[in-house]
Amino acid sequence: MLHLEDNREDQELIKRLLSQAGIVCDITTVESHAEFLNSVENQSWDVILSDYSLPTFDGFRALALAKQKSPSTPFIFVTGTLGEDIVVETLKNGATDYVLKQKLTRLSSAVRRALSEAAERKNLLGAEAALIRSGEEFRFLADHDPLTKLHNRAYIHDHLPSMLTSAVRHEERLALLFIDLDGFKFINDSLGHSLGDLVLKEAAERMKRCVREPDVVLRLGGDEFLIVLTGLRDSTDAAMAAERIRRTLEDEMLIQGNSLTTTCSIGISVFPDDGADGESLIKWADLALYSAKDNGRNTWRFFTKDMNGKAAQRLSLEYGLRHAVAKDQLFVEYQPQVDLRTGRIVGAEALLRWQHPEMGVVSPATFISIAENSGEILRIGEWVLRTACTQARRWQDEGVFSMPIAVNVSAVQFRQRSFVETVKKVLNETGLVPQLLELELTESLLLTNSNVMATVMNELTDAGVRLAIDDFGVGYCGLSYLMEFKFSKLKMDGSFVKSIGGNSVGPSIAAAIVGMAKILGMKVLAECAETEEQVQFLREHNCDEVQGYYFSRPLSAQGFSEMVRSQCA
Ligand SMILES: [Mg+2]
Repeated sequence: MLHLEDNREDQELIKRLLSQAGIVCDITTVESHAEFLNSVENQSWDVILSDYSLPTFDGFRALALAKQKSPSTPFIFVTGTLGEDIVVETLKNGATDYVLKQKLTRLSSAVRRALSEAAERKNLLGAEAALIRSGEEFRFLADHDPLTKLHNRAYIHDHLPSMLTSAVRHEERLALLFIDLDGFKFINDSLGHSLGDLVLKEAAERMKRCVREPDVVLRLGGDEFLIVLTGLRDSTDAAMAAERIRRTLEDEMLIQGNSLTTTCSIGISVFPDDGADGESLIKWADLALYSAKDNGRNTWRFFTKDMNGKAAQRLSLEYGLRHAVAKDQLFVEYQPQVDLRTGRIVGAEALLRWQHPEMGVVSPATFISIAENSGEILRIGEWVLRTACTQARRWQDEGVFSMPIAVNVSAVQFRQRSFVETVKKVLNETGLVPQLLELELTESLLLTNSNVMATVMNELTDAGVRLAIDDFGVGYCGLSYLMEFKFSKLKMDGSFVKSIGGNSVGPSIAAAIVGMAKILGMKVLAECAETEEQVQFLREHNCDEVQGYYFSRPLSAQGFSEMVRSQCA
């Protein structure tokens, strides 16, 4: 506490009174203008007490000085009788209170109140500071990713234009590296998101170490990162940086006792060669990334104009597919499966078609992989399943046909734990018995052997659904898989059938596949049978069924039932 008072007796009296009232404080007493000025300038005070009339100095000037140096410090006049006008004037000028020397009993309460009000103001200031800090945090989050502390998408949106301008001014190149961690989803799904987050942080750290100071590393979201390399002489610099990043990321990561490896794919676009504005540069880098992934991942690719055409088509298909179910553009055709001994139709494979509004009928070979990558396959797959089961049940009701209907299933569907429920639900809704549904799985699906997949397969066969292995012979299916799971049918890939009549070992392999399937207790169906010679060969080698143009191309539901009826006639 600072006390301005020239009367020694009063000084002592006030000290005593405050101490008697239990107010514990150090009191510094000053008597002159110079001392007072020095004190308020060099020290902060909890409260200032001041006499009003001093020989060389008056309380009014003291108040003005105190308010100037430390506006929030309580200032209390302790003085002889003051005129009302003066009191009003002092309060107007910021005095906290005044206590008459004749009534010093009020002093302790006035000091207490001033101190508590000052403390409150201090708290408020503290809260305000916290508010400012949270505001700063808010501003930080506006253009940063909270997990990796890297800049985010908003930042690049705001800053890329000026980086491009600067590159033009310095006649330099700039490269955008669009980076995606390969198989990150697998880490997240199998080891949990919190571990996945640590992998992202580690990856971010490694990327930062691979670039120089003015370069920017951003996280766009998920496992997608973008790096802006500045001040490049030519695109070789970008390639070298990409290779550095690729190598750094493929090094083992030790995270919470887990040894993990995650590689990355990188797409590169270069300014000004590939585009003049940020938006197209990002788009081209993204397309180049697609291409890097198509090329087996753990690699990098520069954007090329040729990618543009392919990727534009891909993007347009991906967009169109999202609406294909709702817009009723999908339809199913049915290809007869024929018993080689009797020549009769014994089954049908449901084949998905897409009637694209501009491109006409698009083949599944073109759009299934796109649907798988975008996840749209789940909705489409369920639609196909329901459509085929509804149709099979209708044929049954109409007395046309009571044979299994084969439906192709994507690996993406099969890896969903809920797939069994979906199948059961569809069978239930359509009233088709499980024994009349045959799901066709490709060999590549078996390669991604996982617990979920094995469980799904077992639950389906337990429910009575048949499983067939599709396109057999061109993938990398181990015999162990064939023995492990209960396939009722093996569909030999069309390439073996096509080789029949030629000089290659193809026909011998076709015969061997039939023999092997027999040993394993499976029926064999040969796909793509087109000629009399092929059919003859297959019949001689005990193949059970064929499917292909020799008997019939895929038909509409109507066409299929007409064909079955004509057979019976
Ligand atoms: Mg098939």
